[in-house]
Amino acid sequence: MKRFVAIGAMLAMGAAAVCPSVQAAETKFVTIGTGGVTGVYYAAGGAICRLMNKDRAKHGIRCSVESTGGSVYNINTIKAGELDFGVAQSDVQYNAVKGMVQFKDGAVGDLRAVFSIHPEPMTLVARKDAGIKSFADLKGKRVNIGNPGSGQRATMEVLMAAEGMKTSDLSLASELKPDEHGAALCDNKIDAFVYVVGHPAANIQDPTTTCAAQLVNVTGPIVDKLVAEHPYYAKAVIPGGLYANNPDSVATFGVVASFVTSSKVSADVVYLLVKSVFENFDDFKKLHPAFTHLDPKDMIKNGLSAPLHEGAVKYYKEKGWM
Ligand code: GLU
Repeated sequence: MKRFVAIGAMLAMGAAAVCPSVQAAETKFVTIGTGGVTGVYYAAGGAICRLMNKDRAKHGIRCSVESTGGSVYNINTIKAGELDFGVAQSDVQYNAVKGMVQFKDGAVGDLRAVFSIHPEPMTLVARKDAGIKSFADLKGKRVNIGNPGSGQRATMEVLMAAEGMKTSDLSLASELKPDEHGAALCDNKIDAFVYVVGHPAANIQDPTTTCAAQLVNVTGPIVDKLVAEHPYYAKAVIPGGLYANNPDSVATFGVVASFVTSSKVSADVVYLLVKSVFENFDDFKKLHPAFTHLDPKDMIKNGLSAPLHEGAVKYYKEKGWM
């Protein structure tokens, strides 16, 4: 351990020569909160850390990812100062900034936006034999409504309330993590699960391949009203053929994934992270198929309700993007 710290100190000294604004006396650690290991957040965090760690010899920062319960957990843990960065759905970010719904006990005033990432449609996946063709068909069924702390749970609670559906209307409301929902569906322990996620997602590829699980439309006047009334929702389409045994496109609504931090994280660290991603943007886009269509111009404005962190603003201004 001692030896490791000594190496870190050497790297940091090197960094001080190249980049005088980073005055680390030893390796600085930053941690990104993500989601389940089979989701897209974990891949997004991994991609960001990989690009940041590539230049560790220059800046002395070691980035690592943590698998977590998801959006709400990430924001609460950033607020507590136990995570430096996290991925969070744009609806959850909005509620944290305004002190609403999941954050009705208090707004997260220190929350700062860095950039947004991929779109995340609300995705309803059902067993082929369950007779579920719409959201309303979930009544009387065994449904995984998402683990506490996840973004899917947050969005599901809003949608259920809007649809006038209670957990007591379901024959089972399970709270499995996304890493477990695919196997539970194919093992006939549940009839359906919801997941707010970028596509393609590994834990949807599994049950669509293994037991021909079906993606189901989430549409209708109530969804139209939700989209009309909330700035962070938009209509979304999951293209046909993306998953095995699902040749037809599915219509739903969704949010975007966003990357957030705290005002307490230093501008130097945020600047270096943002720079690592955008100076290596073609590499970043190749690290997950959900990132293929990303455009920096959209990423610095869409789905961001928290103020941008000053370290991010510095880089975006340098690039002439702001
Ligand atoms: N949207 C999910 C959440 O906020 C996570 C999706 C993922 O891990 O890709 O918890």
